[in-house]
Amino acid sequence: MTSNPPPVNPVEIARIALKRLAERGLPPTPENYAQFYNAIVTIKSPGTKTNDELQHAWQVLCKLDDVLAEARDTTAQLLESLSESGENMAASLGQLHHARREALLDEQSHGTMTALLEDIISSTHTLHASVSSSHDDIVSIRDSVKHIEEDLAYNRKMLEQDPLTGTLNRQGLDHLLAREVKRAQRGESKFTVVLFDLDDFKQINDRFGHLVGDQVLVHIANLARAVLRESDFLVRYGGEEFLLLLPETDLNGASYVADRLRLVAAKTPFIHHNRRIEISFSSGIAELHADENGRALVLRADEALYRAKHTGRGRVELAE
Ligand code: GH3
Ligand code: MG
Ligand code: MG
Repeated sequence: MTSNPPPVNPVEIARIALKRLAERGLPPTPENYAQFYNAIVTIKSPGTKTNDELQHAWQVLCKLDDVLAEARDTTAQLLESLSESGENMAASLGQLHHARREALLDEQSHGTMTALLEDIISSTHTLHASVSSSHDDIVSIRDSVKHIEEDLAYNRKMLEQDPLTGTLNRQGLDHLLAREVKRAQRGESKFTVVLFDLDDFKQINDRFGHLVGDQVLVHIANLARAVLRESDFLVRYGGEEFLLLLPETDLNGASYVADRLRLVAAKTPFIHHNRRIEISFSSGIAELHADENGRALVLRADEALYRAKHTGRGRVELAE
């Protein structure tokens, strides 16, 4: 607003009067209109007042006008601000709604998640049941495998065992001999075998019958077991032929075992119908060579046995 007085113009004065009435919220009644019109005319008519009075009144009105304009602007700004705030609030509200929608979605998601979790829990239960069932199956399979292993071990033992005497048979010998030979060579320890064969056994069968012959074989096997150590092995090598595997034993030790068996057999005769049946046997003993395999070792023991047989029987012969 300019500080210079506007030109006096009735139309202009009327326009300003109406504007001021509106600005002040006053109804444009004839009284109000006349009052404002006269005031403006007075202000805008320099000739009616002294210059100082007019100037002062003008300045007051201008200030008032400015204040009102300022207030209007402020209100406008306020409105604008309010509007803006409203828009912001609306926006915020919208965001809130959106957020709420999101929250609702989250609730839905939560519901979905809950359902999913329930599915997972259910699946986990199923899985657990499945795992438990699988575990049971595995336990069952493991038990079955254990039983199969036990059966196999039993069957293998049966296959490797002589049914008459309960000693190892030739089937079980190969694996055992290879193992013991390897062990002895690895540990650089002595390993000796004693192959003994009952003398004139055919005659025993012929005199007392095959069943008695069987009982004699069982008797000798039991005596052999009695003189052997825990770590020794007794093998029924043939019909009336037995092989002793003696780990950690040299020729002297093996000879001692063979002699002891002979002594024990002499002291513990086989009695049939209150009659003592004399049993003698011939032995061939061979100690393992450093570069020898089990077959060669037993072959040398067999050669020594052959010599014992052909040099009188009832003897022990050492392999070279
Ligand atoms: P040698 O002193 O030369 O060894 O004479 P031997 O009679 O013992 O040998 P030979 O090979 O002539 O006869 C072995 C006998 O052993 C013949 C066979 O019937 C018998 N025999 C082999 N196995 C068994 C068995 O399991 N039970 C019985 N009762 N006899 C068997
Ligand atoms: Mg014989
Ligand atoms: Mg024989």
